[in-house]
Amino acid sequence: MLTPVTQEWLQMLSLYGWIWIIPIVERLFPLNKQPFVRSGMINDLIHTYHRLHLHSMVNAAFVAWLVVYAQRHASQGAYLQGSLANAHWGWSFFALLLMGHITFYVAHYYSHKIPLLWQFHRVHHSSLTLDSFSTSRFHVIDKALFAAPYLMLVTYFQPDPALVFLYISFRDFWGRYGHGNIKDAHWLGYFVSNPKFHRWHHSNHPEAIDKNFSGEFNFMDYMFGTAYYPKERIPENFGETDYSNNIVVQHYRPFVDIYNIAKNDGAMALFRKPKPKPEQNYQAAQE
Ligand SMILES: [Zn+2]
Ligand SMILES: [Zn+2]
Repeated sequence: MLTPVTQEWLQMLSLYGWIWIIPIVERLFPLNKQPFVRSGMINDLIHTYHRLHLHSMVNAAFVAWLVVYAQRHASQGAYLQGSLANAHWGWSFFALLLMGHITFYVAHYYSHKIPLLWQFHRVHHSSLTLDSFSTSRFHVIDKALFAAPYLMLVTYFQPDPALVFLYISFRDFWGRYGHGNIKDAHWLGYFVSNPKFHRWHHSNHPEAIDKNFSGEFNFMDYMFGTAYYPKERIPENFGETDYSNNIVVQHYRPFVDIYNIAKNDGAMALFRKPKPKPEQNYQAAQE
């Protein structure tokens, strides 16, 4: 469906294009007055380039494998297996969006609610300043947990690999835009995860804790009552001052923290969030 030239363009855009186009848009239409150069920026750029290349290689290998798999198992199996193999591209793309959205929301929800998963996801939430460079700050285990359910569904339903590639490029663009310090129309946040909507997800304001889990479209947040989107305010307090801006520390610290939780509070504390006592509310709000 996509010509090789289109594929090359999309790959160039996701590797080098919108990483640098969106910062220009952030300068032109800022949501918040904040400096371009900020602490943790080098770290986030290392995340961007070290991980994006890793990611592209994994994606390319996966798509290649998917093509081979689809060719060998082209016939449709029971329980809708392979049902997207010969589907219309419009229907396939809609199904990809839906699968991507639902798996992202569920994985994201549990990465906040289960302390074991939170220790990895916490890396993404450690940014003190939010801009499009913060998009890439992720622990690789966290990233894999978010991607795995989606990749499993894609392999099962077998849509056209070119469409999967198109969707992944779209998602990459959306992540950068959604973390960007960009002012856009307020009403957009009722439908899609725009910068203002996702900023509340990263904020330390108690009323916004564990809200706005959506990646691209917001309907699940509105359906399950996890949306927080006031009209007149913009959040201004993000991240953890005592976390690290060093990519190496960010990759080993979750294991140390998990070990300490298990040692001090028992292994079950890794699976159940403690009920906050009244005096701990403020502390909880900071996390
Ligand atoms: Zn989160
Ligand atoms: Zn985020």
